[in-house]
Amino acid sequence: MIYLVGAGPGDPDLLTVKALRLLERADVVLFDRLISAEVLACINPSATLIDVGKEEGQQCEKQRQIIPLLLHYGTRHDTVVRLKSGDPMVFARGGEELADLLDSGCDVEVVPGISSALAAPELAGIPLTYREVARSFAIVTGHGRDGLLQDWTAYARIDTLIILMGVKHRAEIAARLIAAGRDAGQSTAFIERASTPNERRVYATLGQIADGTVEVEAPAVWIAGDVVGLSWGGPTAYDRTSGVFQLPRPQRQ
Ligand code: SAH
Repeated sequence: MIYLVGAGPGDPDLLTVKALRLLERADVVLFDRLISAEVLACINPSATLIDVGKEEGQQCEKQRQIIPLLLHYGTRHDTVVRLKSGDPMVFARGGEELADLLDSGCDVEVVPGISSALAAPELAGIPLTYREVARSFAIVTGHGRDGLLQDWTAYARIDTLIILMGVKHRAEIAARLIAAGRDAGQSTAFIERASTPNERRVYATLGQIADGTVEVEAPAVWIAGDVVGLSWGGPTAYDRTSGVFQLPRPQRQ
């Protein structure tokens, strides 16, 4: 059996029980670049670990090698885990790998994980929906050409916009969203390396991001919407050391 497993955002306490059980008895684990050292430490010590993490520029080449590797190990071992950060079906090519493996006649099981798209804002005390503030959210990619060419007007109207892989092109994306009608004064937050000891939160308005003056490091989840305003107050609104976050009462319209 080949398992397509979500590892969650990084903190091993956020693995599902099923993911942890599989990692503890895995024979082979093929893992991605964003898998944290703490999650890797949960893997059966006698398992074969294969890093299939993709650096920029070599994504296609590495991706081509993954299915043959899974097929190779799948015929020789009982428990082969394809471990992906967050959820395996959210911007992780899980769907493509599932289709290829099923086409090759493999037994495959998908084990959902907690996506960083949900975990990052939630750990920062930012709800994705909130009565009278946000009734919808969308998770979109800000990556590369596809990300920039996409029709941002469609997303300008979504209440809570969650952008993955958006750090590099943040200024252009913000400018496009403003041009499409999103309020330049809207609060946004970048949550870098969510759930890891190096987590950092950067708060800025959409207009400030468009100006290109806000420093952010990847990987980060970018949240734009009035729900961020619920926790507005920037870095002073939470206590970095204790991790305690006071969510101020929302401003109801
Ligand atoms: N399948 C993953 C997403 C993979 S795409 C998931 O469901 O989370 C990679 C992007 O995910 C990164 O560019 C970043 O935007 C986001 N990401 C993944 N882990 C993260 C983390 N711990 N903190 C912040 N962003 C993260």
